[in-house]
Amino acid sequence: MAQCFTCDVNEGHIPTAGGVIYEDRNWLAEHGVDRLVRGYVVLKPRRHVHELADLEPEEAASLGIAMQTVLRAMRMALTTERIYVCSFAETVQHLHFHLIPRYAHMPGLGPTMIPDLFAERWGCSQEEAESAAKDIRAAISI
Ligand SMILES: [Zn+2]
Repeated sequence: MAQCFTCDVNEGHIPTAGGVIYEDRNWLAEHGVDRLVRGYVVLKPRRHVHELADLEPEEAASLGIAMQTVLRAMRMALTTERIYVCSFAETVQHLHFHLIPRYAHMPGLGPTMIPDLFAERWGCSQEEAESAAKDIRAAISI
């Protein structure tokens, strides 16, 4: 096990619901281990990097394609009102982007929904997360 939670996930020491959703040379995306909401995806670099500013040029250049590929697949696979993208890298200091579906039943808009999200107000089951991961992965290959 590494000293970093995200490195442990990237190396397969911590399983995620449904497994890897997207991968390329620099980036990996999986359903969030915390299952904050169905279809909540975490996109992170393979390499241990703390902040966006620490990326190598090739990693930074490929981020846009990786992000857009996953977001488009989420839009196809999930019935969302919006998909939020945010990054903090505070408690887990390995750069990662939270790709958060906001469904019609989630009343908090924009940043006001973040505390409720992390309090698992809309948390989903392992099975729901697995099915979402499968649907998003399938949409990537379309
Ligand atoms: Zn790490």
